[in-house]
Formats: sequence, C-alpha cells, structure tokens
Amino acid sequence: MKCDRCEAVIPENDEREFNGQTICEDCYMTVLSPAKACDPWAAYCAKSFSEKTDSGTNLTEVQARILQILEQTGGVDQQELAKRLALPVEDFERDLAALRHMEKLRAEMRDGRKVICLW
Ligand SMILES: [Zn+2]
Repeated sequence: MKCDRCEAVIPENDEREFNGQTICEDCYMTVLSPAKACDPWAAYCAKSFSEKTDSGTNLTEVQARILQILEQTGGVDQQELAKRLALPVEDFERDLAALRHMEKLRAEMRDGRKVICLW
C-alpha cells in the first residue's frame, strides 16, 4: 500500500482515508493541520525555514551592530565602520568575513574607495 500524497509505503493497517485518498499517517497529520501544510515536502520546508531563522539569530552583537550601521548609512568604508563601532578594524574583520559569507553584506568600489554595504 502506497500513500496517495507522498508515495511512501504505508505499513499495514496504518493507512488513513482522507477525501477518498489513501494516505500515510504523516500526511494525515498534515492534512488535519493545514497551518503546517507544505506537503509532501513538510520536513524539507520545516528544515529550510529553521535554517533561515538560525542565520538571523546567530549573529554576534558586533555583527548585528555592523548591519545596523550599514542600514542607517547605506554603506561606509572600513575606517568609518571602525569609528562607529569604536573597535579597531582587526577586531571585526572576522565578523565582516562571516557576514559576507552569509551574503548579508558586500564590498563595493565607490569613487575609488572600498565601501561596505548591505547585500
Ligand atoms: Zn504520505
């Protein structure tokens, strides 16, 4: 017996009827709670959603401040950023790299100066 929704093999006696379909227990839970409906990729959606949330909440305080400054200024060079953070450039270079890796910011040439701005 196969699930009509996700095509998973349903163990005997575990099949459920819904709208004339034979579905597995997982799908049955999903159709009964439409708020979570993302089926048949429910697990996948939940995962990618939590990944997104994580990258938003895992910022260090310095990283969050950098993004805030860039948002307010529309982009500054490293020296200006150091001044606003009140930190030496070496102290937040790693945060910049991390943020760049997360595609939250990028470097841009403006009038021959390297300016850091939001992605
Ligand atoms: Zn199913």
